[in-house]
Amino acid sequence: MEVVNDNSCSWINDLNPRNNIKTLSSDFSCEWLIIGAGYTGLSAARKLSHLYPNQQIILVDAQLAGEGASSRNSGYLVDTTLNDGFTSNKELENYKKKADIYKLGIQSVKKFIKEYQVDCDWNECGKYFASSQDEDKKILENFSETLSKLGFKHNLLINKDLEKRLGTNFYNIALHTKGGILLHPGKLVRAMIDTLPANVNLYENSLLMNWKINNGLINCNFKNGSIKTKKIIFATNGFLQSLGIKINYNFPITLTASMTRPLSDEEFKSIGEPKEWGVLPVRPMGATIRMTKDRRILIRNTAEVYNPYEMSKTELEKRSIKQKIGIKKRFPQLPDNIIHSTWSGIVSRTRNSSQIFEKIDENIFVAGCYNGSGIGVGTLFGEQIAIKASNESTKEIETIEARKKPTWLPPQPFLDLGVKARLIYERLRARSEV
Ligand SMILES: Cc1cc2nc3c(=O)[nH]c(=O)nc-3n(C[C@H](O)[C@H](O)[C@H](O)COP(=O)(O)OP(=O)(O)OC[C@H]3O[C@@H](n4cnc5c(N)ncnc54)[C@H](O)[C@@H]3O)c2cc1C
Repeated sequence: MEVVNDNSCSWINDLNPRNNIKTLSSDFSCEWLIIGAGYTGLSAARKLSHLYPNQQIILVDAQLAGEGASSRNSGYLVDTTLNDGFTSNKELENYKKKADIYKLGIQSVKKFIKEYQVDCDWNECGKYFASSQDEDKKILENFSETLSKLGFKHNLLINKDLEKRLGTNFYNIALHTKGGILLHPGKLVRAMIDTLPANVNLYENSLLMNWKINNGLINCNFKNGSIKTKKIIFATNGFLQSLGIKINYNFPITLTASMTRPLSDEEFKSIGEPKEWGVLPVRPMGATIRMTKDRRILIRNTAEVYNPYEMSKTELEKRSIKQKIGIKKRFPQLPDNIIHSTWSGIVSRTRNSSQIFEKIDENIFVAGCYNGSGIGVGTLFGEQIAIKASNESTKEIETIEARKKPTWLPPQPFLDLGVKARLIYERLRARSEV
């Protein structure tokens, strides 16, 4: 089995190709091994290298570093996510714990980009939760109450106000949160790779096939080599289950997204020349849609149970058609052939939307499962799992560990059946919002 990615992610193709790629081709021993080089693994490696400047840290990825979900996402660095209800104090308390983690995640990314002077198209323009359905007003009003109680600045917008800001009259109601950042995910993760310290050895295109504990060491077998390590951090997110990790607590979901070419001056004028914006759906299976600062439109409107290792070109094309329809629904004046590229990416989900941050055995640690909000939380969890693995504690770890833990999931085939049924239900509920 190999992770075979499409080469069509616009965020990745915006960047210069890398040329210093090393692949694992012999046997090594080390103190520290990290599997997975997305935001989580790269942040863990950076932190460990600072904690142990005289030790060698090995970081391995099955594909090119950063080219999994970390480059393939929609680029919303979120301060809040939308959930129904939150009427009781207990739920409010849980929501606050979740938001505290998002806040720390934003701080981690901010610190990184400040320290390394990273240009990742950072825009603190907030984000919209929007719906075309008047009946969703109630959900947004409840959400507004939650945000007010917790001191998040936000406002509700309707029809014309919204149309002016977004350039489409598709939406009838929205809640705009002031916090939250839009960024270029590919540029961010590339900067994390480019600034890896010298004592981090990165091996790419090297799939971990299996691992086991033997005489206090963890033996890891790759296609063309092996690594014996004293301590290991698993940062493979959507691929945790395939490595036998926390199998009853997480499962992979495949998302696809499309990006248009930049709109021409005339096209941009036809939609009212809006400033950069990002919309998240009120109903979970609705479309995420974003206008970038260089006038491209990104849309993500699929989420499914699918083989996480590969999506064929034909299958991608089918999803691209759905995304073209999504764009045309909102911007009928734009031409039919405006989509420039379509790609897929894997996220990891838990049943109760809580993340995994744990020591799972002696010297074995895991961080992941951000349920679609991993830019900030992944960066934070990577740093903090490295500290936890060093037997240290921080205020951040206390905040992370105060969250609800992921809840148990039934085994296969019941899990797939349950997830598929739930997705069908959510898809039906959100059919107007796709
Ligand atoms: C379409 C899409 C839109 C999204 N939108 C957003 C958004 O707007 N905001 C947000 O915050 N989050 C979003 N996400 C989620 C976000 O991208 C992830 O939560 C985040 O990238 C997780 O980072 P990570 O480092 O933990 O995992 P990944 O980036 O998935 O990295 C894991 C790495 O592990 C490697 N790996 C897997 N198995 C093995 C193995 N056996 N051996 C070696 N290496 C292995 C993979 O190749 C991969 O590079 C989105 C995701 C997708 C796909």
